Amino acid sequence: MKKTGLMLFMLICMFAFPGLGHAAGSTNIYLDGKALNLPKNGEVQNVNGNIMIPIRVVVEELGFNVNWEKVTRTVTIKQADTTLKLVVGEKTATVNGNKMNLLVAPILKSDTTLVPLRFIGEQFGLTVHWDNAAKTAYLVTPGDNNSGGDVDPGNGGTTEPTPPTTPPVTDENLASIGGISFSDNKLMIATDKNVTPNIFKISGPERIVIDIPNTKFADTFSNILDSDKNGYLDVEGYPAVSKIRYSLYSNSPSTIRFVIDLNQAQNYKLTNDNDGLVIIDLNSDSTSSGRKLVVIDAGHGGSDPGAISVTKKKEKDFNLAVTLKVEQLLKKETQFDYVLTRSGDTYPSLKDRVKIAEDMNADIFISIHANAGSATASGVETYYTRKESLALANVMHKYLVASSGLTDRKVRTKSLHVTRETTMPAVLLECGYLSNPKDDAILFTESFQNNVAEGIVKGIKEYLGIQ
Ligand SMILES: [Zn+2]
Repeated sequence: MKKTGLMLFMLICMFAFPGLGHAAGSTNIYLDGKALNLPKNGEVQNVNGNIMIPIRVVVEELGFNVNWEKVTRTVTIKQADTTLKLVVGEKTATVNGNKMNLLVAPILKSDTTLVPLRFIGEQFGLTVHWDNAAKTAYLVTPGDNNSGGDVDPGNGGTTEPTPPTTPPVTDENLASIGGISFSDNKLMIATDKNVTPNIFKISGPERIVIDIPNTKFADTFSNILDSDKNGYLDVEGYPAVSKIRYSLYSNSPSTIRFVIDLNQAQNYKLTNDNDGLVIIDLNSDSTSSGRKLVVIDAGHGGSDPGAISVTKKKEKDFNLAVTLKVEQLLKKETQFDYVLTRSGDTYPSLKDRVKIAEDMNADIFISIHANAGSATASGVETYYTRKESLALANVMHKYLVASSGLTDRKVRTKSLHVTRETTMPAVLLECGYLSNPKDDAILFTESFQNNVAEGIVKGIKEYLGIQ
């Protein structure tokens, strides 16, 4: 009972979701798969976007030990070695005597004391998944093998069951989720270890849920996730998909949940070859959506600097800068999709780069590089390996020459990994010579990079036949 009290206490302390809107009265709460009955005379309140829980009523009803001092209007909550003190109307609280700021002060409403639960919840380790559409919170007790089983959140048995529990896995053994993207009507989740996703559909509203146990977010997610470890992926141009969200759903085992919110019922096909990419394909017949997909590959990166310029600049930085400028332009294109093999200073292996393009069934692959050679060599080259890439090479090279203003060193063939191992038309652009002082001086200028990025996008559009 003591434990139940703690869990329930933590549970009721978790609600301060800024996105909640004003429908807090209809909030549902599930703890480890079980619905809680919130007392009618002390329903959850929304105060300026902060969810307030009637702690006195709920806690007393549940038998949790709380002390209310009427004179000082102070709530004292004790559990194990943690003591929280909150005072009505005051925006500071104490945790074991240490002052902490609150976003919103506790309030007294009729005979009920309401407390801001985000603050209190942060003192505990519950995993919270908030479904804003359903106004429902799913909570998982940390380090506790509560078998959630199926839950019924009251919308016709359409549930998001708690993930199956397995023995705890140490943090180092967790697979890192390194990135996610949505393109060509497919959600792609990159992992660095083998994973076993659990995928299921839910109706009312329609959604597809993918739980991946024994995973954690890679460090790259730290500035994308909010303080509750929730993140969102904007999806535009796909009528069936309204949005994609993801969160650390459970600590036991550490489980990341992805939810594809749908505007209509939608079939999917899960591909998990344990090769670092989990794909949820929403093209119901598993064929292409008809939209073309372009892969932009910024050469080198991370530990691989590529060529070093005469002024000691790194090729990888040039490649990424141009790629990100290309991306900015591609974001405005509505008739085809794109994916980057890297968008930061990381090093996907050459195999990884090919695999991204192959797994996604890309239509064209463009790798962006700068060359190095003798100090006198100057100009641009476009490389291809397989003959089916020649037409793409010719188009891209025409625009590379025009946009760079550098010497035309022609379209060339060479056996390069990314242009050889891919199966779609694939080219590698050498946008100038870092070993040449004249080329080096302009390659890192904004204007040169903008021009080349524009040229690359023009080439892509001409090749795809897009106006
Ligand atoms: Zn290179």
